[in-house]
Amino acid sequence: MPATSKTDLYRKLPSVDELLHRPELAALASSQGQAAVTDAARTVLARLRMEIRAARLEAATVDLALSGISAAVERQVGQSLSYSLRPVVNATGVILHTNLGRAPLAASALEHIRDASSGYSNLEFDVGTGDRGKRDVHVDRLFRKLLNERFAGEGACATPDISTIVVNNNAAAVLLALNTLAEGGEVIVSRGELVEVGGSFRIPDVMSKSNATLREVGTTNRTRVADYEQAINEKTRLLLRVHRSNFQITGFTEQPQAEELATLARKRNIPLMEDLGSGALFDLRSIGVSGEPGVLDSLQAGADVVSYSGDKLLGGPQAGILSGRGDLIAQARANSLFRALRVDKLTYAALEATLLAYVKHDHDAIPALRMMHLSHEEIGRRAEAVVVKLRSSLLAVAIIDGESVIGGGAAPSAVLATRLLAVTRKGLSADEVSARLRASEPTIIARVEDGRVLLDLRTVFPEQDEKVIAALRALDQEISDCRF
Ligand SMILES: *Cc1c(COP(=O)(O)O)cnc(C)c1O
Repeated sequence: MPATSKTDLYRKLPSVDELLHRPELAALASSQGQAAVTDAARTVLARLRMEIRAARLEAATVDLALSGISAAVERQVGQSLSYSLRPVVNATGVILHTNLGRAPLAASALEHIRDASSGYSNLEFDVGTGDRGKRDVHVDRLFRKLLNERFAGEGACATPDISTIVVNNNAAAVLLALNTLAEGGEVIVSRGELVEVGGSFRIPDVMSKSNATLREVGTTNRTRVADYEQAINEKTRLLLRVHRSNFQITGFTEQPQAEELATLARKRNIPLMEDLGSGALFDLRSIGVSGEPGVLDSLQAGADVVSYSGDKLLGGPQAGILSGRGDLIAQARANSLFRALRVDKLTYAALEATLLAYVKHDHDAIPALRMMHLSHEEIGRRAEAVVVKLRSSLLAVAIIDGESVIGGGAAPSAVLATRLLAVTRKGLSADEVSARLRASEPTIIARVEDGRVLLDLRTVFPEQDEKVIAALRALDQEISDCRF
């Protein structure tokens, strides 16, 4: 049989107009809109022309493709009208995974977002007086409860006045604080703390954007209080400590205690700021992590201002939070950058609900905290319940000991003992298994280690366990993707 020429193959293709007149596509256009269907028809036809040009289609396969062309247009419409931002199942065991959206929100946060933003709210309105109000009062009052009251319980010194403001993220909070407290002057930072956090947040860059000059002291592994002291001059405006969020320096090291730096700062009348990054509002020792200062620890040690993220250990929405001495926070609030970096009602609503859970000591209401508190036994039991529902000769699933990671710039070494599902599948490499899990609906994200796919149920919501089972069962089937 003579090969059909490409021109003949092109001729077989209908025009966009012809396609749109087919009854099934006309019906689709009336439900999904003419524009979307026209677009999809063009895309599908273009794809077919490309396949013909690349000589991947010949007469018989073109006919086959044409018989399914309406269905292809329909799929294309579905794809283009569906969300790109979608939920995924996080089976990596990394609780605060930046690429997966960090902290999942509490149910109360979602309800509060809906209530406060599906209509109007008193975001900047004082209901009592009928005057204009400030948007930060809604969360400042809760931060005061969480920070001042406990602070006051600590003893002798006069009750400090800790206030708090919120901006878009912690990078913005650091920028705002440096610009407010040190514009045109110098900020002293240890060489061991010149960090880069994921997404290219670099202390030296933020420093220059804030119009402050970085004054490095000490060495990568050792910095003493005396190094800070010697660097202080008439231009010094701020001492800055930065949490080493994603690396550790071990061996021959020295770093001054926050208390020692606070004493120096007080003596020289220069404020001390600590960029905590992850900033916990609960005691990390409750999950067996020691040596990590929380927000209160840092303030109690004498930091005048601390900055931290809303969506790391706090377990709330993306936000950058500055808590500290009332006079310094008032200066930051008065800075025009604060207006440029302000957050929306959605953030205030989510943050207010999350903080209220802390005020009520209802830590289990906050998903990230609940996941941190899950015991190794509990996760093991869920893993066993998954394994008994899998019966397959192709699939091997073992339960092994492993570690979950807190992530999000908590102590880089902060891990929690867990039980992992270790999956192998005959005929598929670990990377292929992992790709199949990603392609399942919903997407499941696992870890690949030593030729095995590892799933950690710590970060999987219990109601998603069934989805994991379904996706693992589907690994049994041979792949069939013969769609064009
Ligand atoms: C995470 C982190 C930041 C950046 O916080 P974002 O909220 O992601 O902007 C800054 N500093 C430190 C020490 C961090 O750990």
